[in-house]
Amino acid sequence: MTDSLLTHCDAVLTKLHSQALYRTPTPTLHDGVSVERNGKSLISFGSNDYLGLAQHPTVVAAAQSALDAYGHGAGASRYVTGDHPLYSELEATLSHYKSCDASVVFGSGYLANLGTIPSLVGKGDLILADKLVHACLLDGARLSQADVLRFPHNDMEACAKLLTKHRSRYRHCLLITDHVFSMDGDIAPLPALRDLADIHNAWLMVDDAHGFGITPLAAPVDVLMGTFSKAAGSYGGYVCGAQPVIDMIRNTARPAIFSTALPPSVVSASIAALHIMHSEPERAERLMEHTAQFCHTMQLPFHRTPIVSLIIGAPDMATSFSQTLEEKGFYVPAIRPPTVPQNTSRLRISFSALHKKEDISVLCDILHAALVNFN
Ligand SMILES: *Cc1c(COP(=O)(O)O)cnc(C)c1O
Repeated sequence: MTDSLLTHCDAVLTKLHSQALYRTPTPTLHDGVSVERNGKSLISFGSNDYLGLAQHPTVVAAAQSALDAYGHGAGASRYVTGDHPLYSELEATLSHYKSCDASVVFGSGYLANLGTIPSLVGKGDLILADKLVHACLLDGARLSQADVLRFPHNDMEACAKLLTKHRSRYRHCLLITDHVFSMDGDIAPLPALRDLADIHNAWLMVDDAHGFGITPLAAPVDVLMGTFSKAAGSYGGYVCGAQPVIDMIRNTARPAIFSTALPPSVVSASIAALHIMHSEPERAERLMEHTAQFCHTMQLPFHRTPIVSLIIGAPDMATSFSQTLEEKGFYVPAIRPPTVPQNTSRLRISFSALHKKEDISVLCDILHAALVNFN
């Protein structure tokens, strides 16, 4: 064992500990919004399974029957022998519900972004991205070797200025944003971004990880990325668009080519989830009622998304708030840098169609009491 490696890792870990940024995953069992953690049963406000589909009997049965029929692993990438017929069924179902020409499924949402951005743009091209876009969009942007400029969060004037100043020096330009911002719960101004893209001959790519199945897009986009791992309660990423766009991504995105296909059971569960999302719109409606109830009681702005942030500031304070809530029977995660910017550590409260109104009012009472002591 090389001493310098151990010394290096020790130094990094010591720094993380001293900044209250060391992370330890806590084993957690899920049953809808009830979770078991640290030997305690808690009501969870910390999952992205917004519609309560991860344990839905139809979704579970779809996975189970595929498992029985086809076994477990896919065995290879889709281009070798991993392209189970369920894949084309999933892509056709998704294209149908999304009313788009075509779609391509990836191993995860993270892989979809890592693959898609370098497949669209490269050296000599420009990427403009919102300051708060998800980490994997930035990683995809870096991998692409295009020049990357960031505009302040949802600031369309700043975005327009950057386009006016820089666009002409580049061949292609890709505008990137989250639809629903994962750590703030607000929504990108898609109609304004659409206009800017049209004026400046740029392509608009939107990450809909947290909006899929919950809140519609307010403007057409050129490249729509999303994931089955959140509201669909399953796993895997996707990209939707015009046929040639999807064909090109399919043929050039490296994670689509060099990574093993998803297990057939996972693909089957995603198909079942898509049908439920379409046939039971009341789930998304209930979810919105829950978030609205919380925002109204807490006097916070309601963005019609399932995510609400309470900014605390210091990472250790956010963690201590989260612990206080846990002692009262609620799981609300503390989110710290580098997931969010410095000094904006927060409680991230995410809602589910499965919560009860009572759960939300008790959570509000506890938060009110905790915040009074804080201020
Ligand atoms: C979760 C998330 C992803 C990654 O999706 P996975 O399927 O979990 O890999 C991508 N973008 C955003 C905005 C996300 O929140």
